[in-house]
Amino acid sequence: MEKVWQEPGDSRRHLLMERSVAGRVGCSLPGLDVPEQPMPSAGLLREELRLPEVTEPEVVRYFTLLSQLNFSVDTHFYPLGSCTMKYNPKVGEAVASLPGFAQLHPRQPDATTQGALELMHRLQTSLADITGMTGVSLAPMAGAHGELAGTLMVRAYHHSRGEAHRKKVLVPDSAHGTNPASAAMGGFHVVAIPSDRQGNMDLEALRKEATADLAGMMFTLPNTLGLFDPNVAEICDIVHQAGGMVYCDGANMNALLGRVKLGELGFDVAHLNLHKTFSTPHGGGGPGAGPVCAGPTLSPFLPSPVVLKEGSRHKLGRPPKSIGKLGGFHGNFGVLVRALAYISLLGGQGMREISLNAVINANYLLSRLKDVYHLPYDRRCMHEVVLCARNQRAVGVKGLDVAKRLLDYGFHAPTMYFPLIVEEALMVEPTETESRETLDAFIQALREIDREARENPDLVRGAPHSTPISRLDEATAARHPDLRWRAQEQ
Ligand SMILES: *Cc1c(COP(=O)(O)O)cnc(C)c1O
Repeated sequence: MEKVWQEPGDSRRHLLMERSVAGRVGCSLPGLDVPEQPMPSAGLLREELRLPEVTEPEVVRYFTLLSQLNFSVDTHFYPLGSCTMKYNPKVGEAVASLPGFAQLHPRQPDATTQGALELMHRLQTSLADITGMTGVSLAPMAGAHGELAGTLMVRAYHHSRGEAHRKKVLVPDSAHGTNPASAAMGGFHVVAIPSDRQGNMDLEALRKEATADLAGMMFTLPNTLGLFDPNVAEICDIVHQAGGMVYCDGANMNALLGRVKLGELGFDVAHLNLHKTFSTPHGGGGPGAGPVCAGPTLSPFLPSPVVLKEGSRHKLGRPPKSIGKLGGFHGNFGVLVRALAYISLLGGQGMREISLNAVINANYLLSRLKDVYHLPYDRRCMHEVVLCARNQRAVGVKGLDVAKRLLDYGFHAPTMYFPLIVEEALMVEPTETESRETLDAFIQALREIDREARENPDLVRGAPHSTPISRLDEATAARHPDLRWRAQEQ
């Protein structure tokens, strides 16, 4: 990695603008074959917005080198807990690029988009089957968007029964951070339920909060400690008896696929992240999809559109008591294509193998690392393991330092300092697509870093040493982001 910017003759030209030489041209345009037009008025032309003058090979080299500075699932092991950075099979890209899918226009009449509607219908049916739910809307475009849909559905349900006073939503302290935010955006008042010493929801605290103003609960399963709460059915019962609805944050179904159906556990509504479990590319804020799935009570409230099948024809429809639309048109269609390709490629048996291998891989890391990195909840984990840097902290090396040092070993950092209830948390999600060799190399790196922390803590505290920029001042980077080149700074 350290060689990346060392082209011949290149001192430190990190920005394309710094490579500009007057008169160099990177493209050739055909001769003018339309009447020449005057330039816009001077007020619209800003002289200070100069463009770099560079040749085509310089542009290609610049962006290719830049792309090599990235960590990605196609280049590196990326154990970012909760984010499920699994391999994205290339066949999904091939299918999504087929002109019949890629060149559809959302305003085309239904008669000309039957194939696309059938694809959406098949995906709805597959996800209903996987979750054991009755209805599915593919409209939400992210996990948190699916959560918002779910909370609005719960609100509409209570309002439809004349129970608008139900304003309290319970959220365990091991839930994903988006859960309390979504409940608050849905107009609810959030009450946290603590975890017990085993990392399960504290049932006594839950019973106390199961009162007449209860609207429901948002429950991340497995929770963000990477644990399956064995009391899930009882928890759903307690909420139901108080008249509430139970939401499952199923963003990460990697541990549960083909093993357990959310509907059968007692959940009323759930979302899935196609860009995690169903392996559509994500990161960098790119398009995602967070379909929302509901049982019989809440299905009438699903967001529109949903795809309906009448005989052999498909059409867009609106559930009878729908909360309405969440965005323009049909959701992120290209993501839906890739997800159905993935599900079809693997089939039911393949889904079960995903969960089997995701859980084995996480537990392999757990058992090979827990003697060195403290394991706050010492029990079998699901698709991810939450370790912590408590032992390293004792010699002055923080979780952040361990994560930065991993970059020097060629690994993306795990999720850090989350969940909040674990100090110095390192949340590691290997996913099912990694080989034994990769996991062993990662284990070895983490064990090496632990040794370094004790023998040469400054080495770890100063990491990364192999990247073009070492540590940013993160507060300044967030408050005064430097996002564009300015001439005066040259
Ligand atoms: C990623 C994640 C979310 C949020 O999904 P986005 O698509 O980023 O909005 C919610 N819950 C859990 C458990 C997640 O892992």
